[in-house]
Amino acid sequence: MLRERVKSIELELHSYCPKQCDFCPNSLLERNEKVVYTEERVIDEIIRAVPMLPNLRRMAFHRYNEPFIHRGQTAKINAIIAKIKEVHRGVEFWAASNLSFLSEGNNFLRDSQLHFMMVRRYEEKDPSFEAMVQFVDVHSVYTVSPGNHILFLHDGKIVYYHDVTVAPFTELYDRGGSLVHLSTRRRTQPCNRITINLGIDYNGNVMPCSNMQSQVPAHEPHILGNLRQSTLLEILGGEPAASFYEATANADFPPACRSCQSKNVIRRFPGRRGWCTCGRSRNLPYCDETHIGNGGPGPWEEDTEL
Ligand code: SF4
Repeated sequence: MLRERVKSIELELHSYCPKQCDFCPNSLLERNEKVVYTEERVIDEIIRAVPMLPNLRRMAFHRYNEPFIHRGQTAKINAIIAKIKEVHRGVEFWAASNLSFLSEGNNFLRDSQLHFMMVRRYEEKDPSFEAMVQFVDVHSVYTVSPGNHILFLHDGKIVYYHDVTVAPFTELYDRGGSLVHLSTRRRTQPCNRITINLGIDYNGNVMPCSNMQSQVPAHEPHILGNLRQSTLLEILGGEPAASFYEATANADFPPACRSCQSKNVIRRFPGRRGWCTCGRSRNLPYCDETHIGNGGPGPWEEDTEL
């Protein structure tokens, strides 16, 4: 049953991102002109389905957008978190932000009920680390490398900050083959990501993994269904999901997957995960085992993600 595979959901609550970074499929799309909000019936269907996903552990409120465009979005995220907590107590909530809209009036660092936030500064005009910490009650700061800081806030929320203007990304990948300038390597491993990390686009389309975005032409054939017409369980039990899972688990890759490097590694420590200590993991705050030797993983804990 594919529903039992779902460990993480990315739920996009609107369409807008002010940036068009060249390492993101938004560089191919026009998502910086108008805001289209996710319909309530799509959000309600996700909340309704959550108790039927026994292995769900994480829920994210970003996809290819900037979640915190105004204060109302923080309130909406908090309301969804409250509803999900009523029906499923084992879910961690998180979001990524590009900091474009951080202000005292829109202080999502302080006001959100998330467990974990990943925030990145992409341009000089966005808040620096020093400017950002004025918005939060910082309990302790752990500097892992120039431009990379992990903050532990007083209420237990973790904020990971990365200043891309100081320390650019060292590893980029082609987001399901959509960014051809980053398609430098062939995929060598079968993929088991299908439905483990589900993506829900603002238009209700359900995507099989976090790399795929339904407006990208290369990803359109892999839309599993739409939550305005079907329930999540109907989509997960449908033929598109079953056949895509079967193909990629057997390394019978469609073009979108042929150069995808997501989880294209054999884990050295299966069943366990450690905290990242070099700041370069793609799975922050956890080590993804690609930079072992740069400090090595921090304290280990049982891995419930794989
Ligand atoms: S190989 Fe395909 S299905 Fe797997 S993570 Fe990459 S794009 Fe997604």
